[in-house]
Amino acid sequence: MSIKIDAYTCEKCGKAWLLKEKADDCCKEKEPRKCRVCGKKIEPPYLICCACKTKERYEKAKKIKYSEYKIGCLWDEHMEQYFYDKEELMEAYRDQALEKGEQPIYPEWCFGCVEKHFKINIDAALEFAEEDMYDEFDRNQDLVDLKELYDFIEQWNKRQSAKAYYMDYTTVVLLNA
Ligand SMILES: [Zn+2]
Ligand SMILES: [Zn+2]
Repeated sequence: MSIKIDAYTCEKCGKAWLLKEKADDCCKEKEPRKCRVCGKKIEPPYLICCACKTKERYEKAKKIKYSEYKIGCLWDEHMEQYFYDKEELMEAYRDQALEKGEQPIYPEWCFGCVEKHFKINIDAALEFAEEDMYDEFDRNQDLVDLKELYDFIEQWNKRQSAKAYYMDYTTVVLLNA
């Protein structure tokens, strides 16, 4: 059996909508989104263009001289790549320019990184195991040698040398300093 429905049509293109607001908005020209700093057209969901974002990050970041930078990894936003040192980074710029048959333009700075060491989180492991216990379970009362476990894991964690690097937008490394 058919039923009657009320609909609204867009006054411009004539497309039918169940909701009046949808019909009103149908052909309304969408304001192009603009960078809040330079006004260049950008795509949602961003509110700022890449160049302005990088500039803002640069301005806010603490600046460290390369000669005083102690972490074994750099992040270059332009290349979107990690580098182990300045030489590797400069080589990448040189190679890219050579490929294009251009003169290389070397960066004066890049972002730093933070180290994340391999580490067992014993609290998370305990919480996971506790899920299978009873409601009144209390690790401090019901477990044997809990302190020994913490001490052991702490010592064991300290012996690990594996680490990963992550870009750190709060640190700028001045490559020629
Ligand atoms: Zn329309
Ligand atoms: Zn911008």
